[in-house]
This record gives sequence, structure tokens and C-alpha cells, in this order.
Amino acid sequence: MTQQFRITLLPGDGIGPEIIAVAVDVLNAVGAKLDLQFVFTEAPIGGCAIDATGNPLPDETLETCRQSDAVLLAAIGGYKWDSLPRAQRPETGLLGLRAGLSLFANLRPAIILPQLIDASSLKRDVIEGVDIMVVRELTGGIYFGQPRGVFDAEGDQRGFNTMVYHGSEVDRIGRVAFEAAQKRQGRLCSVDKANVLEVSQLWRDRITALATEYTDVELSHMYVDNAAMQLLRWPKQFDTIVTGNLFGDILSDAAAMLTGSIGMLPSASLGASGPGVFEPVHGSAPDIAGEDKANPLAQVLSAAMMLRYGLSQPEGAAMIETAVDTVLDQGYRTGDIMAEGMTAVGCKAMGQALLKALN
Ligand code: NAD
Repeated sequence: MTQQFRITLLPGDGIGPEIIAVAVDVLNAVGAKLDLQFVFTEAPIGGCAIDATGNPLPDETLETCRQSDAVLLAAIGGYKWDSLPRAQRPETGLLGLRAGLSLFANLRPAIILPQLIDASSLKRDVIEGVDIMVVRELTGGIYFGQPRGVFDAEGDQRGFNTMVYHGSEVDRIGRVAFEAAQKRQGRLCSVDKANVLEVSQLWRDRITALATEYTDVELSHMYVDNAAMQLLRWPKQFDTIVTGNLFGDILSDAAAMLTGSIGMLPSASLGASGPGVFEPVHGSAPDIAGEDKANPLAQVLSAAMMLRYGLSQPEGAAMIETAVDTVLDQGYRTGDIMAEGMTAVGCKAMGQALLKALN
């Protein structure tokens, strides 16, 4: 029997509509092969939503997302909306979406594809074979902790934030990370600053206690300063990394940039239940919007993550990942990953090559 999934599409701004169109074609092609039916509903978010309604995340958009099995987001933002007050900025819509769907776990793979090894700024032997998953806590820690603020204090100013985690928050993200590690090479490195911060000691204690439930996963701990160094020195030592919001923000960007190609990086944000949001790491690239120059592969790989982590369809995910591999093997490259001797293609042509590879 055909399995049906309701997918909310949030094309957003800039190159968003161009790249999401490619992902939709790819999903439909995979669906036809695996007897899966995707029912897509499109909704506005970010700058286009501001233009249409004055609100970067209209209530109807959030409600449509809540009613779906998964959300595929492209990117939001652009020069046009940069000078608006914070509450009306496109980014506020994105934060509202994460909060509105209680997405507490952010999964970001950093995989070095052999075809793109020369795009990295690191040496070949350092990065060849790197395959890391960074699991970042997304709704707690210092970005949300209270109290916070800037005050006048005794003739000077004082700015402060609070880094806080509840044990239950650590357990919740810990479970996502242990389960991700189980699906990978079974190694999990928890990153903290337990030599200095009490909140990190709690983090370490709770992750260590959780490990007794996941005896098939090998757990290690690392201080965040060392982790930053080790990511550049010998990234192959990592399989899955779990860390808090602040450390994860920084380390996931560092890990992603090992690959050297922002147009290739997908991500997933998951909650305890309800739909996850799957989106490329890059922004709306307003400098190339509407020119058929965008690389759609991060968006397409986000659709693969949606199948694997959001809809439990690993076979479909693998089909998409293989198709991406194939088109790169065939030498097709968009401008951002172009190299000598390869075939330059635009966004649409890359989409067509993917469909051909799938069939
Ligand atoms: P960006 O990621 O949009 O672009 C950085 C550079 O990478 C640009 O030169 C761009 O052309 C290129 N690039 C990005 N994605 C590409 C792709 N798929 N194919 C080819 N080239 C690609 O970051 P930015 O320029 O700092 O921000 C532009 C806008 O995007 C801003 O309004 C920013 O707020 C927003 N933004 C949104 C998100 C999101 O939606 N999650 C994330 C980051 C930035």
C-alpha cells in the first residue's frame, strides 16, 4: 500500500524557491520508486512572509507545519529586510519556527565527499574519509538562560548571561546523540568545559550516567577548547559529537567548514515528537538569487535527512545520497564547487542530472 506523508515546504527567500523545486522533483522520483506519496503544502516564512503579512512567521505557517509529518525549509533573509527591527526580521521567523515546534536537537553532518576533497582548506590526508555528525542542543544553555541583560553598576556597565541546563535537558539531547551514534560507527564524544563550569560538570555526569543504557556506544569526553583543536588537527578521530547550544554553534560551523563547500551541507532539527525541520546550512544567497546559479545539493541532502531522521525511510535517503554521489562522479558542478576539468551546470541542470541518476 502506498505510504503517504504530508510535507510542509518553506521555500523562503533568495535562492530558496529554486533549490526547493529541485528537492521536490527528487522526492517525487524517489516516492515513485518506493511507493511513497508526498503531499506538499507550501507556506511563507521570512522576508516573503513579511512582504505578504507583515510577520516573518504567520500563524497559518506554523499551524501548517504542526499538521505535517515533516518540514522542508530552504532559506530566509535578504538585503531588503536587513534594516527592519529585530522582531520583524526574517531570522525571527526561523527562531519562532524552532521554538514553535520545540526543536531541541540539531543534527549536522560534515562529510568529506571524495569528489570535493580539493575544496577543503585542509590537507588531503587530514580530511580524506571524514564523516562526523554534530548533535547540538538547540533550545537551552546560555542563549536562553535567565537572568540576562546589561545594567549600570556602580559607575560602570555590566553585561551578563546565564549558562544553565536541567538534567532532563541533557538526558533528552543525550538520547538523540546516543541513538544517532548507534546508527553510525557507535562512537560518541561529549564536549563540555567541565574543568571550569559547574553546568558542564552536570552535563558530563548526566551523559556518563546515560551511557549505561547504550552499551553498544563507546563514550568519550573532551573539553571544548581541545575539541576545536582536534577538529582541525585530526578530524577523523570523531564519529558523533554531542554538545550544548553555545559550543555546538561554534563547533558545528568549524566541522562543516572542513568540507569547504557551504552549498553541500544539510541539517536536521528534531523535537521529542511532531515534525522535524530539514534545511541546508547555508543562507538565501541573495547575490545569486534568480540566476540559476545555486547549488541545490544541500537542499537535496536535507530531503535525504528528512527521509532518514524524520520519516524513517532510510532506503529513500540512501537513494538520494547515491544520486548525489553519482552526479558528482559524472563531473557535474555548480559554480560554488567548480573545479578544472568538470562540467559547469546551473541549479536546474543539476536537478535534471539527479533525476537521471535516480532513474
Ligand atoms: P549565505 O549562506 O546566504 O551566502 C554566503 C555565500 O555562499 C554567498 O556568496 C552565496 O552566494 C554562497 N552560497 C550560499 N549557498 C549557496 C548555494 N546553495 N549555492 C551556491 N552558492 C551558495 O550567507 P550570507 O550571505 O551571510 O547571508 C545571506 C542571507 O541569508 C542573510 O539575509 C542571512 O541572514 C540569511 N541566512 C539565512 C539562513 C537560514 O535561512 N537558515 C542561514 C544563514 C544566513
